[in-house]
Amino acid sequence: MRETVFIGFGSNVGDRVDFCDRAVTLLSLLPHSQVVGVSLLYETEPLHDHAQPGNNWFLNGVVQIETDVAPRSLLMVLREIERSLGRDEDNRSGPRTIDLDILFYGQLVIDEPDLAVPHPRLHQRRFVLMPLSELDPLWMHPSRHRTITQLLAEVQDRSEIRLLLPQPSTRYGSRPTCSPPPGL
Ligand code: AMP
Repeated sequence: MRETVFIGFGSNVGDRVDFCDRAVTLLSLLPHSQVVGVSLLYETEPLHDHAQPGNNWFLNGVVQIETDVAPRSLLMVLREIERSLGRDEDNRSGPRTIDLDILFYGQLVIDEPDLAVPHPRLHQRRFVLMPLSELDPLWMHPSRHRTITQLLAEVQDRSEIRLLLPQPSTRYGSRPTCSPPPGL
């Protein structure tokens, strides 16, 4: 059954824009699926390292797709895209060419050791909630019973997040026209 799925992406090493761009392009090639939205790119402070922007800061964003691909198959595809973009499997917590997470899979709740959906930390991360709020501010978190706008208003995360300026030109026709959230 076709479901709306939000996938978070992040990169903090090498040509970060290019890694994000390639990841979205690979997702757009997924069979039985369609990319329906891509957020703007945000530059976010690493959680434990207060370096200058650009110096190991993350680039983060969110892709919205409509897909028939089942959650576990989608997770395997994401791992495969990470591998193809050179993610270091032996040091998953180190610098990452690309990190892909299933944030929401429709209103499904999955709680298994290797797959938790909605992503268990998304409500604590402003760098996830901000791009999500661009794409669908009224999307409901199925277990917290809060919209993205409500979660964003309640989040405690005070790490620095900047809209990447200038935004790279994009080849995704599906990118919605959206304005950055207030305050950026
Ligand atoms: P990370 O190092 O943050 O990329 O975590 C990857 C691991 O998290 C994978 O081996 C997945 O099995 C697991 N995982 C659990 N829930 C999710 C999710 N919603 N999206 C992506 N990976 C997940």
